[in-house]
Order: sequence, then C-alpha cells, then structure tokens
Amino acid sequence: MRTLIKDLSSAKGEQVVVKGWIDVRRDQGKMVFLDIRDVTGKVQAVVLPNHTEALEIAQKVRPEWVVSVTAQVNARPPKNVKEGVINGDIELEVLGIEVLNEAETPAFDISTDGYEVGEEVRLTKKYLDNRRARIQRNIKMRHKVNLFIREHLNKENFLEIETPLLTNPTPEGSRSYIVPSRVSPGTFYALPQSPQQYKQLLMSSGFEKYFQIARCMRDEDTRGDRQPEFTQLDIEMSFVEQKDVMKVNEDLLIKLVTELFPEKKIQQVPFPVLTYKEAMEKYGSDKPDIRENKDDKNLLAFCWVIDFPAFEKTGEDNVDGAGEWTFTHNPFTGVKEESKNDFLEKKNIGEIISTQYDIALNGSEIGGGGIRLHKADELKKVFEIMGYEEERIEKNFGQMLMAFREGTPPHGGIAWGLDRLLMILLNEPNIREVMAFPKTGEGKDLLMQAPAPASAKTLRELKIEIKK
Ligand code: ASP
Repeated sequence: MRTLIKDLSSAKGEQVVVKGWIDVRRDQGKMVFLDIRDVTGKVQAVVLPNHTEALEIAQKVRPEWVVSVTAQVNARPPKNVKEGVINGDIELEVLGIEVLNEAETPAFDISTDGYEVGEEVRLTKKYLDNRRARIQRNIKMRHKVNLFIREHLNKENFLEIETPLLTNPTPEGSRSYIVPSRVSPGTFYALPQSPQQYKQLLMSSGFEKYFQIARCMRDEDTRGDRQPEFTQLDIEMSFVEQKDVMKVNEDLLIKLVTELFPEKKIQQVPFPVLTYKEAMEKYGSDKPDIRENKDDKNLLAFCWVIDFPAFEKTGEDNVDGAGEWTFTHNPFTGVKEESKNDFLEKKNIGEIISTQYDIALNGSEIGGGGIRLHKADELKKVFEIMGYEEERIEKNFGQMLMAFREGTPPHGGIAWGLDRLLMILLNEPNIREVMAFPKTGEGKDLLMQAPAPASAKTLRELKIEIKK
C-alpha cells in the first residue's frame, strides 16, 4: 500500500511505501540523504550505513529517477524540526529502494521557478517543466478554480453542456481554423472561435441557464500573449437583463477569490461600472486599470465597462465584412433601448450603443458579453448595416434567424478568458504559465511539433494539393 507524502506526518512510527521522484540526493559517503517528491509534496529520507543494499542503490540514483521506497517514519528530534515545512517534523529511514525508472540528467533545472530558463527549451520538454513547484501549483489551482466554478454554477441551477468543436465559423472578429472533411472532399469544418451560436441556440432549446468551460480556437497573427487555443468560461442565460448577468458573474468572482485566493484584496465591491466613454476619457482605455496601488501584488481592481458603441468602421484587419461598418464585439449583441430607433432605421450608426458589458481586472479584459438580439429581423439589421447581401446573411446565419423565428426567448451571457484571469490571480507574467501545454507566440507546439505537414496519403484522401 502506497502512502502519499502529504500523509506521512500522521504515520509516525509506521513502516510505509512511498513512490515518487528523487528530488535531491546528497551523498555523504557513509550515508545518503534523499529528498523524495510526489504530487502531494516532499519528504527527506536518509539511508543509513546498516542498510547496505539500499545504500548501494542510493549511491546510484540521480535526480528525477522514479523510485519506490520502503521506509520507517521517524519523528525528528525536537532540535531538527523544521517549523512550517510540510514533513518538517519527520524523516524517513530508508529500508529498501526499488528503481521504477531511471532518468537522464534533466535538460534544465526544475528546482527553480524556471523564469531564468529559455522558454523554447522549457516548451520542448514541457512534461519536465511541469514538474517544477511553480507550475505544479498553477495547474493545481487551475483545477480548483474550474471545480469551484462548476460547483457554484451547479448550485445556481446552470447546466454544463458541451457544444461541438467541428462546426461552421462563428464570428468573433478573428479567423477560424478549418478542418478538411475526408468524407465530403472539398468541404471544411471550422473550429469554434467561441461557442457563441450554440449557446444562443441552447437558449432557444429551452435550457435557460448554460455554462461550459470551453476551448476556443482563433487563428490570429502572432501576438505575444495570445494562444491559438484558450479556455473560456462561457455562460448564457434566458429572460435576463444586463444587471442580472453582471450580478451572477460578480458573485462568482467574489466568492472564488475569497475562497481560493484569500491573500488577495478586492479593491471595491460591488464592482464599479464605467461607461465606455468614461473609461476612455478618464483612463484612455476600455479595460482600465483602476488600482489605487499598482505595486500591491495582491490588489484586485475589477470594474465593468458598459455602453460600448455597437459598430465601428471596418479596419484593415477586418475579416468578416466588406462593408463600411462592422460590429465591435460580436454581431449577436443587442442595442440599448435609446438606440433602438437609429438601429432599426440604420442611421447614426456610429452612435448606436450596444448592450455589451466587459469586465476588466487590473488593466486586462478578463471577460465580456451582452444581452443579445433575439428577433430575426433585428439580427438581420446588423448584417445589413455591415453591407451583407441577403443571400450571404441567410447562408451564414440562417440557423440563427430560423431559431429566432421559432420562439427564442430574450437572453444574454458572457465569457471569461479563464487563462488570463488565472494569470492575474497567480501573479504570472503571461498566460502560458497557467497552461499545461501552451504553444509559442507563433502558435507552435514545440513538444508535439505541431503544426506539421500531412502525409501524402492523408492529402490524397482529402483531395488536397499543396501549392509550393
Ligand atoms: N462569445 C463572446 C466572446 O467570445 C463572449 C460573449 O459575448 O459571450 O468574446
């Protein structure tokens, strides 16, 4: 029976089997000290001269070898107790060592926080990098945050529903990754930029409160802190107004921080609400950093930004429309009551205010959403303003128009950038540090060596020819 390292302290005087990695080995000739590590912690072990067989093996083992150790759990003499350190009050007396696997000398030091190691090198052996204490903590906290969100939203009667990954493009202002279909050569699926359309269709399906910890894929040009795939907490609710969605999210964020990050202070509760205009005038940013003390690592200044313009002039990187105007956030966002007339009459386009709300934290946008349009003729207006032909609207968004004509309730939602939120909560400099297997800024997975050319056979089956 294996004993986890975290439980050793309560096994004083017993004989145990511990399995894990050699963290550190100190050979003192007559005896060898080993720090042994498993997923739950570390413990110091000593191999004394009288256990000759174990001593011989202990002299051979090296850091990162995987071992099974039979040992006696001894209380440390009071003068040797290390206060506040896990297992600081015990030491293992090794009786036997079985080597489960050897390990080459690690390509880089994993005993440090790792910031000093080149990132390319770390990503090439990310499985190894993940063994360092900092990344272990980050990934464990990520799990706790996900679990907390699930439990909280479950209590609030949300349903977690998975939506397809192989689908058709849904616009979020980016390019979609496409996947060729072998069965219907010449046709392609798109990977979702977000579950936007499906989550709205779920409202049409009558589920009323949906969430998903959803993977989103966006094919963007290299931008330092963007990842081609990232995780959103995606939420949608029926029969709600702006204040209702904001309340649900604010409650969840406050509880999550209080419970899982007790060292953090939230600057202001309820979160301040700024209009887009105020944010731009006062802070020159639509994700303002309103912290009173920017040196305080534990200060969290959340704020909402509302009343965004619904449309903006198409810029150069516009990928969705050919017209003069495009949506600022996504085309499904509604417009405020006071802008309804302008919107329906397609005038004063630049002044139309949307029902979008974003949430910023310490100068980063960590989420955004809106109350949606839920009537077909109103959704069509958006695309008309963008200069789409009738045919294109029906072709790309026919499914939404159809659902909106068949009893879709008023609804709204939000999505959080979970990676970015975690990055801030864990005081990390970039989102790659909170992901188990991130890609480089150029979208490469250096460990799996993706993307990679497809084999000639695959291309033949897909009826795809690569132009040189
Ligand atoms: N789908 C939006 C996004 O990914 C968020 C939302 O409006 O719910 O940015």
